[in-house]
Amino acid sequence: MRSSSVNHLIMKSLQQDQAHLTAQQVYERIRSSLPAVNPSTVYRALERLAHAGLVSVSDMGQGAAVYESVGEEHHHHLVCQDCGSVIQVEDAFFKKLFQQLQAEFNFQLVTNHLILFGRCPACRENASGRGL
Ligand SMILES: [Zn+2]
Ligand SMILES: [Zn+2]
Repeated sequence: MRSSSVNHLIMKSLQQDQAHLTAQQVYERIRSSLPAVNPSTVYRALERLAHAGLVSVSDMGQGAAVYESVGEEHHHHLVCQDCGSVIQVEDAFFKKLFQQLQAEFNFQLVTNHLILFGRCPACRENASGRGL
């Protein structure tokens, strides 16, 4: 099996509905079109794609890293620690900060998918209703 076809299937499954998938979920999606594929082949291909900057790897508080295809437009997320809801944030919010950091520290950033944890409005409301 050529690894290029595995790469292609990985990118296709990640691009579908802009998915954030764990390595296990990526493997399961690929297995439906390539039943003979070995999980470690998929995991190694994911690592190579991440290293090449085509795929981002993030901890979104789900206990396992999630992979996502990196498009032309970067985006970031606010993740609620209580209910797990995810808000997508445009890169415009962070672009300036990234540029300033690179200039100030002469440091080339490769992070392209920021995950910031916190509490969503609904959970804050619940907490205050319970007097917490
Ligand atoms: Zn994302
Ligand atoms: Zn919440």
